[in-house]
Amino acid sequence: MKRVAWVYHPDFLLHAPPFEHPESPERLVAITDHLGGVGLIERMVPVTPEYPEDADILSVHDREYLNRLENACRRGDLTLDSEDTYLNRHSFNIALLSAGGAIAGAKAVAEGTVDRAFCAVRPPGHHAGRAVGMGFCLLNNAAIAARYLQARHGVGKVLIVDWDVHHGNGTQNIFLEDPTVFFFSIHEHPTFLYPGTGRRWEIGKGKGEGATLNAPMAPGAGDAEFRTTFEQTLEPAVERFRPEIILVSAGFDAHRDDPLADLQVTEEGFRFMTRHVIALADRYCRGKVVSILEGGYETSSLTSCIELHVRELLGE
Ligand SMILES: [Zn+2]
Repeated sequence: MKRVAWVYHPDFLLHAPPFEHPESPERLVAITDHLGGVGLIERMVPVTPEYPEDADILSVHDREYLNRLENACRRGDLTLDSEDTYLNRHSFNIALLSAGGAIAGAKAVAEGTVDRAFCAVRPPGHHAGRAVGMGFCLLNNAAIAARYLQARHGVGKVLIVDWDVHHGNGTQNIFLEDPTVFFFSIHEHPTFLYPGTGRRWEIGKGKGEGATLNAPMAPGAGDAEFRTTFEQTLEPAVERFRPEIILVSAGFDAHRDDPLADLQVTEEGFRFMTRHVIALADRYCRGKVVSILEGGYETSSLTSCIELHVRELLGE
C-alpha cells in the first residue's frame, strides 16, 4: 500500500455561501463522512495545512488582487468580480488556507514523507487568474503548488492534469507563456459550458507554445472518449514533456449525475483516469502525484468517485 497524504482542515468549512450555491461546505462534509465511513481516512497520512507564506501566493497572484480580496471580505461584500463567486468574512483566510493545503500536499510528496497526496480543499482554484476571481475560485491552488515546488524544492518541470468538467482557464492563463509547467485540460466543449475557453487551438504562447493542451469534449461524451483522449493525446504529450511531478486538478463534475454539465463519465472513468495518471507518474516522475480537489456538485457521485480515486492512490 502506498502512503497517501490526507490534506484537510476543518476551517475549510468556514467559507460558506451567503445565498443558495452549489459550492458549499456540505461537499467536504460529505467527502469526509464518506471516506471516514468506508475506513479510508484512517489508512491515509493526515496532513494539516498551514497558512502559506506571502511569497508563495505572490508567485502566482498580484499583491493588488490579494488586497482587493481581503478588503472585499472585510467590507462584507457578497461576491468578488462575478456574481457566481461568493465571499463571506472568512473567505480571504480560507482561500489562503486552501492554497496552503495544496502546498502541504506538494511538500509531503516532494519531501518523500508520502508517495502521493489527496488535498480535500475548498474553495477550489482552477478558474482563478493572476488578478481575478471567478467560477467559485479565489486563489489558484494548483498553480500555487506548482510554483511552490519550483521555488522551494528545485522541481523543474510540472505537469498539471485538469479533469474538472470546466476548462481550467485560470491555470492556463497563469502558465500560458511558461514552458516549465505543462497544462492539460479535458472538459466539456466551450461552446456548451462555462467558462467558454479551452479550444484545441489554445496551445500556449511565446516560449510556452506547446505546453498547453486542451481536449474539449462534446456534450454526452463519457468514459470511452476520456479514455481515448488520455491514451492518445495526453500520454504522448507527457512522454515528450517528461514532468518531474504531476498535479491533478481533480474535479468530479464530469460525472453523469452532476447538475452543472452534460458529460457522462462514470465512477469507472474516474478510476481509469486516476490509474492512468499514476502510471504516467510511475514512468516519468518516480510516482509523484498530488491530487487537488476542484469541482463536483452531486454529493453521491462526488463521494463515490473520490472513494475510488483515493483507493487507486493507495494502490489497492
Ligand atoms: Zn468544474
